[in-house]
Amino acid sequence: MNKHILHDHLDGGLRPSTANDIAKKIKYKPLLEIEDVQGFFDRSLSNSLEEYLEAFTHTIALMQDYSSIERIAFEAAEDMHLNGINFYESRYAPFYSVNEGMTPLDVIDAVNSGFKIAEETYGIKSGLILCGMRHDTKNVINVANLCVEAKDKIIGFDIAGPELSFPPSLFAESFKKVSESGVNITIHAGEGDGVSSIIDALNNGAMRIGHGVRIIEDINDGIIGPTASKIIDLQIPLEICITSNIHTNMYESYEAHPITSLIDYGFNVYLNTDNRLMSNTSISKEIEIAKNLGINDVDRLLKYSASDSFFD
Ligand SMILES: [Zn+2]
Repeated sequence: MNKHILHDHLDGGLRPSTANDIAKKIKYKPLLEIEDVQGFFDRSLSNSLEEYLEAFTHTIALMQDYSSIERIAFEAAEDMHLNGINFYESRYAPFYSVNEGMTPLDVIDAVNSGFKIAEETYGIKSGLILCGMRHDTKNVINVANLCVEAKDKIIGFDIAGPELSFPPSLFAESFKKVSESGVNITIHAGEGDGVSSIIDALNNGAMRIGHGVRIIEDINDGIIGPTASKIIDLQIPLEICITSNIHTNMYESYEAHPITSLIDYGFNVYLNTDNRLMSNTSISKEIEIAKNLGINDVDRLLKYSASDSFFD
């Protein structure tokens, strides 16, 4: 059976040992004196999404040259393979790695080169979703344009970063342009912001919703609201990342996470990792968590319907 990961950030999944190696190579000061690298990046006790996101400044600092990015991409795909995954959709905000020596296309090529080596070695198929950062309008526009320019090298477009105050409709023109060029769209929504962000994502061409867990807030006393109905009827995939939601303080415990209710109501739920380094997780760990919550046939949450896949 093919198993898919739909939602995993490349800059959120470095191996601690690799972060250590690259920090030494480029003499990245904040990491040089650190003994417990995993602990340095661990955001399991963070108090907010902002605190959680701070860890990314350090991983991005380690992703500034071709060979480092290629290695990180290869290892991400290798780790997914070792967790039983055959199709890995990875995402990254490419302009974070652009500098005097790296163009946006170089960044994409470095990622794809790492993925190609992993495919040749293990058979795992990997593809890159480009993320625009929604708190930076210019960045979203640039990434959208890059998606159109490099559409044969990527598999999708997303916007990431803080959701509140930055709804998808702010970037309606960019989504329209990307959609018209035939690039697949997924949008982070219904995590930092509520139900309105989910309907806004759908209206801007989202074929899947990143997280989307707060769709549960459209169901009250068993009465299913209009947005939730639409998501169920259209079977829009929800890219659920349980541990990440706990670590960004959305839910106080695994038991409080709505994944089991979402499944019971008939939502099209998929299990994902989001940021393996910051959350010290893997898809194998997420599968165990889902099993412990009483979800039967967890494999079904990794089996993606080919008709909806972002891969050709
Ligand atoms: Zn995410």
